[in-house]
Amino acid sequence: MSLNRRNFLVLLGCTSGTAALGLFPKNGLAQATAGEQKPFAVAELPYAYNALEPYIDEETMRFHHDKHYVAYTTKFNEAVNKYPQLANQSAEEIISNLDSLPEDIRATVRNNGGGYVNHTLFWQIMAPNAGGQPTGELAKAIENAFGSFAEFQTAFNDAGSKQFGSGWSWLALDKTKQLKIMGMPNQDNPLMMGMYPIMGNDVWEHAYYLKYRNDRAKYLETWWNVVNWDEVSKRYQQAIA
Ligand code: MN
Repeated sequence: MSLNRRNFLVLLGCTSGTAALGLFPKNGLAQATAGEQKPFAVAELPYAYNALEPYIDEETMRFHHDKHYVAYTTKFNEAVNKYPQLANQSAEEIISNLDSLPEDIRATVRNNGGGYVNHTLFWQIMAPNAGGQPTGELAKAIENAFGSFAEFQTAFNDAGSKQFGSGWSWLALDKTKQLKIMGMPNQDNPLMMGMYPIMGNDVWEHAYYLKYRNDRAKYLETWWNVVNWDEVSKRYQQAIA
């Protein structure tokens, strides 16, 4: 939430966001719950908490965004704020250069800076009324790299289902501009390997357990219904530019 809007709401004696202003119905735009964070702000969901139903349920989105993501953001900021010169860099730059960080914050930044960057991306690459298939250059690149869209989906799902424990399934562009699929543990991000993240799916249990219980494969299969290909294509264009 911007500072201006925040002040505006405070002036109105209203702290529960736009829903209380009547601008949105009950399940209006999701609101960050941890207030302003610096230097890295909690990104609000660009849709309502229940907007991805029936594929991802409202309760999962509330916990995932307001608890898990906010906690990563808080811990990342705490680490960065120990070394104020780091605030001149983007979060992506910071996690791309873990080796150059002071040792006492390196693991914290890997886990929580990774968590911050991964989830900020994750909210953007999902959308209601989405899914389907990519078009244009990304569609061609996927066919060239994996044979077909269906084979790409299978490989991406495999990377997620075979990721032991917590982690992510990633589509990334490597240094030779080739598309690569890989599972990565914890909150690691392709940037940590010198690769550019195009899209990722969160396979931590917190991403699916409330609705899908232990059935990660079902979650992975269903997730394609919420993929925002416009955003993913935009990221691909940025990566190859
Ligand atoms: Mn997560």
